[in-house]
Amino acid sequence: MKEKRVTVIGGGLAGTEAAWQLARRGIKVDLYEMRPVKKTGAHHTDRLAELVCSNSLGSFDEKNASALLKEEMKLLGSLVVNSAWQAKVPAGGALAVDREKFSQLITDAIENNPMITLRREEIKSIPEDTLTIVATGPLTSESLADSIQTLTGQSQLHFFDAAAPILTRESINMDVAFEKSRYDKGDGAYINCPMNKAEYEAFWNAIIAAEKVELKEFEKGTPFFESCLPVEEIASRGFNTLRFGPMKPVGLEDPRTGKHGFAVVQLRQDNAAANLYNIVGFQTNLKWPEQKRVFSMIPGLENVEFVRLGVMHRNTYLNSPVVLSRTLNLHARENVFFAGQLTGVEGYSESTATGILAAINAARLLEGEELLILPETTMLGALVRYITSANPKNFQPINSNWGIIDVPVEFEKMDKLSKRLELRKRSLATITSLNLEPCLSSIGS
Ligand SMILES: Cc1cc2nc3c(=O)[nH]c(=O)nc-3n(C[C@H](O)[C@H](O)[C@H](O)COP(=O)(O)OP(=O)(O)OC[C@H]3O[C@@H](n4cnc5c(N)ncnc54)[C@H](O)[C@@H]3O)c2cc1C
Repeated sequence: MKEKRVTVIGGGLAGTEAAWQLARRGIKVDLYEMRPVKKTGAHHTDRLAELVCSNSLGSFDEKNASALLKEEMKLLGSLVVNSAWQAKVPAGGALAVDREKFSQLITDAIENNPMITLRREEIKSIPEDTLTIVATGPLTSESLADSIQTLTGQSQLHFFDAAAPILTRESINMDVAFEKSRYDKGDGAYINCPMNKAEYEAFWNAIIAAEKVELKEFEKGTPFFESCLPVEEIASRGFNTLRFGPMKPVGLEDPRTGKHGFAVVQLRQDNAAANLYNIVGFQTNLKWPEQKRVFSMIPGLENVEFVRLGVMHRNTYLNSPVVLSRTLNLHARENVFFAGQLTGVEGYSESTATGILAAINAARLLEGEELLILPETTMLGALVRYITSANPKNFQPINSNWGIIDVPVEFEKMDKLSKRLELRKRSLATITSLNLEPCLSSIGS
């Protein structure tokens, strides 16, 4: 009988999780990690699952979308989540960790697992015949990125993430904002937030003075930052530049007054359910608390709920709505799965979670079983649905949030907190009922 074996490329969060999940299912794994032979520019150690920046895996407050995702992962026997709880440091409602202890726990678990062979080597091209999970992250090495491009098509791999904030529709004040597309052209209306001269002046002063994120050494001088300007950079070029750029008011008369504002901020529908909107042309490098402060000055967005704040950073990710199926393998090659930030999810927990699903499906493919599409009533299922069905022309990575999960009609009348608690209960019940835990649980979790 042929040996059951999977190649996992990348020993980060998603790759170690995928390797662990395969091993728990009795499948041998060759896990390739290029560090320390080849470095990335963001990682500093040779440990597996190194956290490149913050030491927080997000909230564990049960009202929070990221907390739900982590709870689902826990139910699925996640090595990363269990290690995080073991390495936890006090941080209020956040699951923050002692980063060294955290990645050492994971490194030990992988190195001591008899089903996993860790190989410190750069993989330069996707193997032809082996069942493979690619989890090489936002800083995938150049040769492998070339190979992925060859497999998926040149235009289907992005190297930078220039994202404008995304917010929930229900939190927009529609007494101030109004729906209209410019000159009433095209289908689907935008939501517009008009500003008078005094409001614009205050906004412009705030945006040019707001604090920015420092670019990392490896991000400086990239063509990205020259061709796609952050909104604060446009603003800094003169008082009127925004009004002749992303905040152009012409053709956007408020139907209630028949007049257009001195400037207008436009919001564009971001998902099929039309409960998420992004701010058009507002890709930004401002610090996150500054984005909240300055963008809440926009009339209509005073109390807005952001599900994702803007970022501009180096980030390699697939155009997943085009190339990836909801089972996380390529349409073009069913034996090549992707996991982690490369799939277009954003964040430590989200990256790890896709590693679990990729492993479950790689194991199923090996066993000749039907692949699993996780229901979109779960946070992980909703995330994967989003990344594989969002608008491919404007696809930007996303983290877990309540806007992407399906809400049944009977929940709609509930207040926000009760609704979230019910959605959480439903999601965890779904994960439990799917019975996804391996029968042979070789190594404790
Ligand atoms: C600078 C930076 C800061 C970030 N900060 C945060 C943050 O604070 N909070 C947050 O939630 N998210 C953050 N992210 C986003 C993201 O969640 C993390 O990058 C996360 O680590 C992604 O997990 P991953 O498993 O997909 O990739 P990684 O954890 O990066 O793992 C990929 C692994 O693959 C290896 N590799 C790459 N190419 C090859 C190859 N060809 N062969 C073999 N091995 C290879 C790499 O060395 C790496 O170890 C940040 C991203 C970046 C780039």
